[in-house]
Amino acid sequence: MNAEEKTTLARFLDLAGDCLRDGHARHRDDYAFEDDAQEAPKGFSSLPLAYQMDEEAALGEEAGEQSVSLAGCETLEDLAAAVRACETCGLCATRTHAVPGEGPNRPLAMVIGEGPGADEDATGRPFVGRAGQLLDKMLASVALYRDKNCFIANIVKCRPPKNRDPQPEEIAACIPFLKRQIMLLRPRVILCAGRVAAQSLLGTGQGINALRGTFASFSAGGEAGEAVPVLCTFHPSAILRNEDLKRPAWEDLKLLKARLDSITSLAPSGETGEHDRAVL
Ligand code: SF4
Repeated sequence: MNAEEKTTLARFLDLAGDCLRDGHARHRDDYAFEDDAQEAPKGFSSLPLAYQMDEEAALGEEAGEQSVSLAGCETLEDLAAAVRACETCGLCATRTHAVPGEGPNRPLAMVIGEGPGADEDATGRPFVGRAGQLLDKMLASVALYRDKNCFIANIVKCRPPKNRDPQPEEIAACIPFLKRQIMLLRPRVILCAGRVAAQSLLGTGQGINALRGTFASFSAGGEAGEAVPVLCTFHPSAILRNEDLKRPAWEDLKLLKARLDSITSLAPSGETGEHDRAVL
């Protein structure tokens, strides 16, 4: 509450007291209130970037979690360099390459997978194996392309050995990188590929069948602070293993296409994320 609001409230309470007492308003010297100290809003959305990052790191330490340092990650290039140098969790010991992600800046859509596999670990690029080829086809069916309007990243940036699920402590350590990417990229829509990505981003224990088929939202904070619509669907690897998932995955893509169409039909010319290419 600021000083002016406190003064108004005090005047009102004093006047109400006078009326109840004898009906005569008494003179009082000027009130001398001071503004309350500013509280950091949820997600630190209106705070300077460097302060937000320090606060996030401090919260992680308070919670007893080891997490990455975002100091100096003010651009996508800074962040990619920090990912490649990161040794915060045990996954750094077995990686060949860290995989920061790739695609244009200010994309129309952002795809988030679980973590790099063998092909991604070998190349340092996300979704480049068989699952990646299927993902590219799925995205092309809704006019999304990683070299044009779609950024692709993962929850953890280093490959879990033998493609096991990333452990909760590895996700907790790495996810500040992803949140920072979302804040910098400001995608208009997020597509979560698979259970691990969906649960990690949305902070839920629900299965992918419960999460898919409808939009959720996610806010990474940042200067804009806007919530981004999130659609969850099956991971392309799961679709390759089970053809029965093709139809519901296609239903999800149709939902995504309808949302993309509504965004692009409202966007002023040149604001559909097809610019500032920055393959990382
Ligand atoms: Fe760092 Fe993330 Fe790689 Fe772990 S997975 S070493 S936190 S970049």
